[in-house]
Amino acid sequence: MPERRPYVAANWKMHKTSDQATDFVKRLLGRLPEPAMRSVDVVICPPFTSLRATADAARGSRLRVAGQNMHQAESGAYTGEVSAAMIEDAGATSVVLGHSERRQLFGETDEALAVKVPAALAAGLEPILCVGETEDERDAGRMEEVLERQIRADLANVGNVQLDRVVIAYEPVWAIGTGRTATPEQAEEAIRFIRGLLAGRDGAVAERVRILYGGSVKPENADELMARPQIDGALVGGASLDPDDFAGIVETAAVA
Ligand code: PEP
Repeated sequence: MPERRPYVAANWKMHKTSDQATDFVKRLLGRLPEPAMRSVDVVICPPFTSLRATADAARGSRLRVAGQNMHQAESGAYTGEVSAAMIEDAGATSVVLGHSERRQLFGETDEALAVKVPAALAAGLEPILCVGETEDERDAGRMEEVLERQIRADLANVGNVQLDRVVIAYEPVWAIGTGRTATPEQAEEAIRFIRGLLAGRDGAVAERVRILYGGSVKPENADELMARPQIDGALVGGASLDPDDFAGIVETAAVA
């Protein structure tokens, strides 16, 4: 079975100006020992306006930077949107797509994601595709149905050759920003299900794709989540705003 390199991403959402981002990166790099940075992919997802400052502050380190959303077109009359090339131009290597806040608050659809994911890949960006069920869907026993719909639709236009360049984040909506974390068993069950869906396309690729857990991950619960073999890392919201907390999660991933 291939070793999957752990991956920990900080989703800052609508937090941190350029100066605050620069300060965070300095403190994080001062706090994280080099071996941890060598063994884990660490990615910061700032708001668009702080991408360049974050990337500049991270220059010379292994820290990478991601956008939080992207428009699928190369350019055009799309007020308020940014393209893959613009995100790359600001110093990012990756982009979060399909976050539940985009889906729930801003009308992001699986149809749009089916175009955005290949557009990101074509531009050389690593997509971090978020999927996950709501509390009502889980309570109605529909978790697998929802995950299957999202994975099939969002990756419909990604060939198997490119599939292992996609990072997937399983983020149950009921665990995001609520303080209610999925148990390691729940997270692993869902991630195993997602990997099974990918295996239906290509077994070897499915073993290589990193699948993260996201939803109220904190330094205190990171170790029991990361200890699970199916969980390849974390997408961290609230706890990623503090460099010490985020560093603690990265260090946990490094030794898991
Ligand atoms: C997120 O925004 O992707 C997230 C998981 O948030 P939190 O860690 O705050 O639940």
